[in-house]
Amino acid sequence: MAAAGLPRPKQFLEWRGVPLYWHSARTLSRCARVAGIIFVFPEDCLAEEEVRIQQLDGLTAGATPGFRPVLPLGLPWKAVAGGPLRQDSVFNALQALPACEYLLIHDAARPFVSAALAARLIDTLEQGAAGVIPGRPVHDTIKQVRDGQVAATPDRQDLYAVQTPQAFRLDLLRAAHAQARTEGWIATDDAGLLERLGHAVRIIPGEAANRKITCPEDLDFLLPPERLACSGYGYDVHRYGSGRPMKLGGVPIPGAPELVAHSDGDVLLHALMDAILACACRGDIGRLFPDSDPKLENINSAVLLDETLRIAAAAGVELVQADCTIIAELPRIAPHSQAIRRNLSRLLALDENHINVKATTEEGLGFTGAREGIKAVALVSALRNAAIV
Ligand code: MG
Repeated sequence: MAAAGLPRPKQFLEWRGVPLYWHSARTLSRCARVAGIIFVFPEDCLAEEEVRIQQLDGLTAGATPGFRPVLPLGLPWKAVAGGPLRQDSVFNALQALPACEYLLIHDAARPFVSAALAARLIDTLEQGAAGVIPGRPVHDTIKQVRDGQVAATPDRQDLYAVQTPQAFRLDLLRAAHAQARTEGWIATDDAGLLERLGHAVRIIPGEAANRKITCPEDLDFLLPPERLACSGYGYDVHRYGSGRPMKLGGVPIPGAPELVAHSDGDVLLHALMDAILACACRGDIGRLFPDSDPKLENINSAVLLDETLRIAAAAGVELVQADCTIIAELPRIAPHSQAIRRNLSRLLALDENHINVKATTEEGLGFTGAREGIKAVALVSALRNAAIV
C-alpha cells in the first residue's frame, strides 16, 4: 500500500535509474560477510519485482533499455511475498532463509545504509550479542501524550531513534517470531520481540545519513535536482551621440560621451543580462525587453537586470562568477572599475571576489577606435538544474 502523499510505495521509487531497494541491496552486498539477500515484496507485485531484479542483477552496461548500467549483486538472492503486517513479512523471509548463523533485517526505505554499518553490526553479534540495532541519540524532547494531554516526559538521555539494519542470531529470532505467532504478540520491530523474551539487545551508533524516506519532503532530500556548471556569453554595443548620460554597470560616468539608446543605454548591464539569460537558455534581452516598448523608454537597466535575475532564478540558475570587459577608446575605465565592481556585486548579489571588471581599447581600430561608440562583453558562470523547465 502506498504511504500517504507518495505516488508509489516508497521502496519502489526509482533513484538514479534503479528502485530504492536496489541501492540498499547493492550496498549490503559489498559487505564481505553478507552471503545472500532475501527481498520481501507485497504479494501482488512479487512476480513483477522478481523480473525486475533478474534484469538488474544480470545487467551489463546498456543491455536493458530503461535501466542505467549497474553492477549485479554478486550474491544469491530470493524474492518472497510479504504478509499483512511487517512482522508477517519478516516471518515469511525467515522461512525462506537457508541455514546460517546471523541475519540482518533492513528497511528498503533507508537507501543510504553503509556497508560499514552492516559490518559493525555483525562484529557486535560475533562478540556474543543476541541482537544488535543501530540508534542515534534523540535531540528533541519527547512527550508521551494520552487524550491530547502530556502524560509523561521521558528523560531524553535514555532515548534513541532506532534505524535498520537490525542484526540477530537467526535461531533466537526464529524462536521469537514463532512464539509471537503463538501468543499473538505484535512488535514494531524485531528487536522488540527479542526484548520481550528477555534477550539482551545491544545498541551501536547509527549513521546520520541512514535516513528513512517517509514523506514527499524526504524525497526532496533524496532527489535534489542534478546541478550542472554552465556559462553564458553576452555582448552589447551603443553608439555615442546625444541622448543618455553614460552609466556602466549602474555607475554614472561623469564627463563621458552620451549614448544613443531606448533604455538608459548601460552597455555593460545589457551584456550581463544577455549572459545571464544564456545560462537559462532564455534567448536575449532584445526579445524580453524590445526597444519598441514605450514603457521601457529611458528605463533604468538595473530594473531590467532584476527581471532577468528573476527569470534565471525561476529556471534554477545560480550565478557563480561574472567576468566583464568594457571596450572603448574613451572614457578611461580604470578610475571607475572598482565602483562598477562594487555595484555589480550589489546588483547581482554576488561577492566582489566573484566579479571581474576589466577594460581595453582596440588600438584605434574599428568603431571604438574611431570613438563612435562603446561595447561590452560579459561571461557569466553559473550552476543550473540538469533539466530546465
Ligand atoms: Mg543595449
